[in-house]
Formats: sequence, C-alpha cells, structure tokens
Amino acid sequence: MPELSDVEGFRRYLARYATGKPIDRVEVLDPAIARNRTPAALSRALDGNEFGDPRRHGKWLLVDAGAATCLMHFGMTGLLHWSAARAAPHPHDRILFHLRGGTLSYRDMRRFGGVWLARTEDEVAAVTGPLGPDALSVSLPVFDELLEGRRGALKPALMDQTLVAGLGNLLCDEILWQARLNPRERVSGLSVRQRHRLYATMRAVLREANRHARVPPLEGWLTGVRDERDARCPRCGRRLLRATIGGRTTRWCPYHQRRR
Ligand SMILES: [Zn+2]
Repeated sequence: MPELSDVEGFRRYLARYATGKPIDRVEVLDPAIARNRTPAALSRALDGNEFGDPRRHGKWLLVDAGAATCLMHFGMTGLLHWSAARAAPHPHDRILFHLRGGTLSYRDMRRFGGVWLARTEDEVAAVTGPLGPDALSVSLPVFDELLEGRRGALKPALMDQTLVAGLGNLLCDEILWQARLNPRERVSGLSVRQRHRLYATMRAVLREANRHARVPPLEGWLTGVRDERDARCPRCGRRLLRATIGGRTTRWCPYHQRRR
C-alpha cells in the first residue's frame, strides 16, 4: 500500500518523465477514477497545458497544470507508469496523460485511488480533507505539540493523517520498532526523551525509505522479516508479536518494545 516513501518515488518519477512536457490529450479509460470531474472536464482543464513541478503532502501527490492543480492518491495499489512508445494500455491503466514524447499512466488495480482537479487552495483542502503536517517536514516543536494534546495509543495516533500525514502501516511499525516503543503505549505516557527519540527515528526511517521509494526490507529492519512465517526480532531473535491495532496487522518485539 503506497505510503509517504512510495509517493515520494512517484513524485520523482513524474518530475523526471512528465514535468515540462505539453499535455496533448487526457484519455480517461475508467471514468470512476476521475473523482471530481467528468472525463471531458478533465481533458478541457489539462489539454494543451504542461505539468509543473510535482509536490507531495503525506500520501498525496499534487501537480499544477495550467490554472488547475491535479491531485493523485494511490489508494492500495496505485502507481504511475511512463511509456515512451504508443503501446496498448495495461489492463489496470485508468487515466492516460498523452504528453509530447510519451504517455504517463495512472494505473490502479484495486481502484481505491483516484485523480482529482482543484482550482484553489480551498478546493485542494476539500479534496484531501484535513491533513496534519507532512511527516518528513514537520519540525520537532510542532511534532511535540501535536503529541502533547493527543489521547489514545501511539500507533493509531501516528497512522492518523490529520495528526501527521504520510505514515502507513509499514512505516509506523518500522519507526516504532527502531525507536523501541510499544505500539499500544499511551501517547500521553511518553517522556520528552521518548518523544524526541520517536521524532529522530521517524526522520531517519523516512529519509532512508525515500531513497528506496518504498519501505525497504533492509538487513536489520523490521520490514525485512515481518512477513516471515516465524518472524523474529532482527535485534534479539525473539519471536515477534502480532495483533490488530488501529485496524492493521501490527508486529513488534516483546522485549525491545515492552510497554512501560
Ligand atoms: Zn527484540
């Protein structure tokens, strides 16, 4: 499921292949994926313009084209694909942006994602819904303040896009494991030191994940082993625990992430 680092990869991909190239024609293969415009209106707004520099907020990708901002969300299985040659569309291609020199496709097997248009910042906000600051660019004082007033358990808080934007299941588990914090720990029970360790770990994990454009299954990372049958902590070899927390399958080490 695309998280901050995957979308960062899509941002770089779009910048590399599509930015600055005139949009000849937008072809909507699946009208349901053009979430807030008809296919004709999407074409009218974009045809003849060119994509600017894409930006990312959490799991959202935003790119200006002419007077419009195009927003993309990748749901569970969305991705971007560039093809320089005119080829038959892939079965999961939903919207094709035919550009000078090739085609950028918004591809999404399970169709939980989509493409939206907005004309103003207010319209952008209406599409994304309330979002906290991006998990990679939030400052320590702001992060601290956000956690300060927060009730409930740690993992659901980090997954909440209105608190900080961009963290999904894999990133959360990796960050908590590396920071040695229990996913069920009360946010209000964290010491200042623990909050700061959480922040520093979040940044380090995000920077590394962004280099890979995904949460990488690196040696010594939880992500590398979490789906194994008899998954064990890369630090201590103990068998990882598993439970559904905040609606998602969560893995953690019973020793390194003891609850205080
Ligand atoms: Zn351990």
